[in-house]
Formats: sequence, structure tokens, C-alpha cells
Amino acid sequence: MSIKQRILILFLLLPLLSFNQKNRKVGINDTLRYSLSMSYEAIVDMFYLYEPFLEISLLGHSEFGQAIPLLKISKKSNVKKKPVLIVGNLHAREFYSSKFVLKFCDEFLYSLLTKDGIYKSANKIIEEYDLFVIPVANPDGLKIAQEDWEGIESYRALVDSIKRVGPYSDWKANGMGIDLNNNFDDGNFEVKHGHLFEEEPASQGYKGAFPCEANEARIIQDFVDTLIPLITLSYHTKGDVLFWADRGTHSYFKGLDELLNTKVANACEFKMARVSRNPKDYGAGLENYIRAKTKRIAVCVELSPPNDLVEQHPANMFKSLVWDKCKSMPIIYLEELSRLYPRYKYLFEP
Ligand SMILES: [Zn+2]
Repeated sequence: MSIKQRILILFLLLPLLSFNQKNRKVGINDTLRYSLSMSYEAIVDMFYLYEPFLEISLLGHSEFGQAIPLLKISKKSNVKKKPVLIVGNLHAREFYSSKFVLKFCDEFLYSLLTKDGIYKSANKIIEEYDLFVIPVANPDGLKIAQEDWEGIESYRALVDSIKRVGPYSDWKANGMGIDLNNNFDDGNFEVKHGHLFEEEPASQGYKGAFPCEANEARIIQDFVDTLIPLITLSYHTKGDVLFWADRGTHSYFKGLDELLNTKVANACEFKMARVSRNPKDYGAGLENYIRAKTKRIAVCVELSPPNDLVEQHPANMFKSLVWDKCKSMPIIYLEELSRLYPRYKYLFEP
């Protein structure tokens, strides 16, 4: 083949190659249980595919030195956008939650780049919002729940010394035996006494000795304080229910929280929990912290139907139990918030 022919072939192939690049997504697998390293790999793959819209940074490290990555999905412009925070896997065993968050990011970024993505309004949303995403808030806990000891072997004796309720797969706390969603400094930490209460570090139910004792809670809380997200969606698993309001803060939102969550609950066939009554039960969660300290909307979203078991649903049920009904949930929140915002602007821009 002559050089001329080779160059010709190269030019014929080039558009094809870039076309393929443009039409690829990471493709989060619907049936596999995602380990921490699989989640990390997916994040790195996203960086290569979606570089124009994605920044990745290190939010910090877990107690056992595992990375807690932060994704920022945005479009570069001089206009100030409203910050949104999406969090997955605060609770160790709830692996559907990080997978949902990753799959949402992949599909959203893909929709920004191509017309055949599933989120037709992605480009409009990114004109108004910057999305900040912490896919795996509790990497040590996720590893423990999956008995994936690689890289945390030196902490194995410590983990084994912590009180374990049920099998490792039921592990809910961080690596030090603190339930992260009971460890935020919302003003109710002292009264908090959940129904799974433990006095000492345990696989679930221990709130810690003081607020933000857990590295992971401290890192996330500090980030919230600097970002002040307009809305936060914190993903958990079990219940198909939204924990959207608590008695201590519900009045701040003048009904916006109810309108927003009613819309989403109806669209995704979720229940809305009653306004949480007692700080002893609801206190010290991330969503409670955000509502109490920043006066912004924060929702604890429990993905997947209840089954009266502690055990998680099987990995291969993710698509039917979660993705098919919830894939548009973050979009619905943001579209509805955009629609209602002018009416409630005074709450956020005094
Ligand atoms: Zn949870």
C-alpha cells in the first residue's frame, strides 16, 4: 500500500473513530454487584469519555485511607450555577445506591454529548445547575460488606474486634464501626438514640462519641459547608420511600419541600415518609444536617422495595427494582425545582 493510500484510509477512518468515541458510554452493568475498585474504574472511564463536562477530584480519604472521589458535572461558562449534591453509599451494605449514582452520571454525561442519550433535558439542566457527586461516601464500609479485604488487610483485626450484628454483608457503618448517617452535627447528636442503638462501635447503630468523629462524615460536612447545595439527594436502599422533612426544619421551606417530593414520589411510585417527629429518631443524618445548618432541601432516598429483611436485594435485580423506575428521579427533582424556584427564590436569595 502506498503512503498516499494509507493516508486516504486514515482520513476515511478518522471520522468513524471519533464518531465511535462520541457514542460510547461506560455502561454500568445492571447485573453485577459493584465493588469499590469497579466503581473507581467506572469513574476513571467517565473521565476519559466525558472530559469536556467532567472534573474529578479527591474529596478526601476514608479512615482506612481509601479515596473518596468527587465528580463535578458542569458546563464551563461565566454564569453562576446552582450547586446540587448527590451522594451514594453512606451506608456500607447499600451497594445499589452507589451503582445508581454512577449509572445516573454515566447516562447524564452521555446525554450531554449525544442526542441519543436518555435524558433529553440534560443540556438544559447543565445551563442552570452544577452537579457535585460523591458516588461512594463510605468506601471502607462498602469493602467490609463485600468482604473485599484487598488494600485494607492491615485493618482486618480492628474490623473483627468491632461488634458485628449479622453477616458482613449486613455491615452498615464505616470501618471504625460508626454509622455515618448518625454522625453529622445537626444539633441533635446528643439526643439521637435510633432503634438500632449501640453504645460501642458496631456494624450498625453506633452514632460515634461526638459529631463528625468519623473522617468520612467530617469530610462531607466540610464540603457541604463550602458548597451550600441548593438541593441534596442522599441515596440509600430499602423502602421505595422518601425521607423528605423533619419537624425541626420543615417550616423553613414554606411548602417547597412537599411540592417537590410529591412530584417525585408520584412519578417514581415512591411513598413519602411522614414528617419525622422526634429528633431522637431522625437526628444526625446528612439530610438533617443540611436542612438544619444550611436551610436547603435535602432528601434521603431509599431505593428498592421493602422486603422486611436486612439483607440487600440480589445484585441482578437492580434494573427491575431500581433503575427502571428511578432513572429519571434526579432529573424530575431538578426540573421541578427549576419550575418552582421563581416562587421560592426569596428563601434562598434574601
Ligand atoms: Zn441507609
